[in-house]
Amino acid sequence: MAGLAIITEACIDVKDRACVDVCPVQCIYEFDPQKNVLFSEDEAGSGTIETTHTPKSDAIGVFGDGILYVNLDECTSCTACYQPDVCPVGAIYSEEHLPDGSATSAKYNAEDPNQGHDHTFFVQHSRDVFAD
Ligand code: SF4
Ligand code: SF4
Repeated sequence: MAGLAIITEACIDVKDRACVDVCPVQCIYEFDPQKNVLFSEDEAGSGTIETTHTPKSDAIGVFGDGILYVNLDECTSCTACYQPDVCPVGAIYSEEHLPDGSATSAKYNAEDPNQGHDHTFFVQHSRDVFAD
């Protein structure tokens, strides 16, 4: 199931960074509201910043620091973060397997508490969050 990784709403306020630990290219970002910057670390919680980006204020304002963000220009579709044993709440999907809420939609992750919802909003939102 190769494809860009899309983090959806189940991450909100869970944010345990399990996906960050398995990403080989550090393309999963947190938002620091004090510094108004999106940052990735070499390892989750290490404090060693790998890359930073400027957020777009309107898009980042939707979820703020309550969720993590994949930079889709940097994601290599390696599949590591959306393996079933990584995200404890099933928040991460491969882009082409993102459920759209319809009955014929792709399957939801087993742990996703938002099954039945349209998750496609998060594709554009992932792109909109990064200003550079
Ligand atoms: S593993 Fe899931 S809940 Fe944890 S930070 Fe990543 S997307 Fe959010
Ligand atoms: S698919 Fe791979 S490169 Fe993309 S965010 Fe997930 S772990 Fe990182």
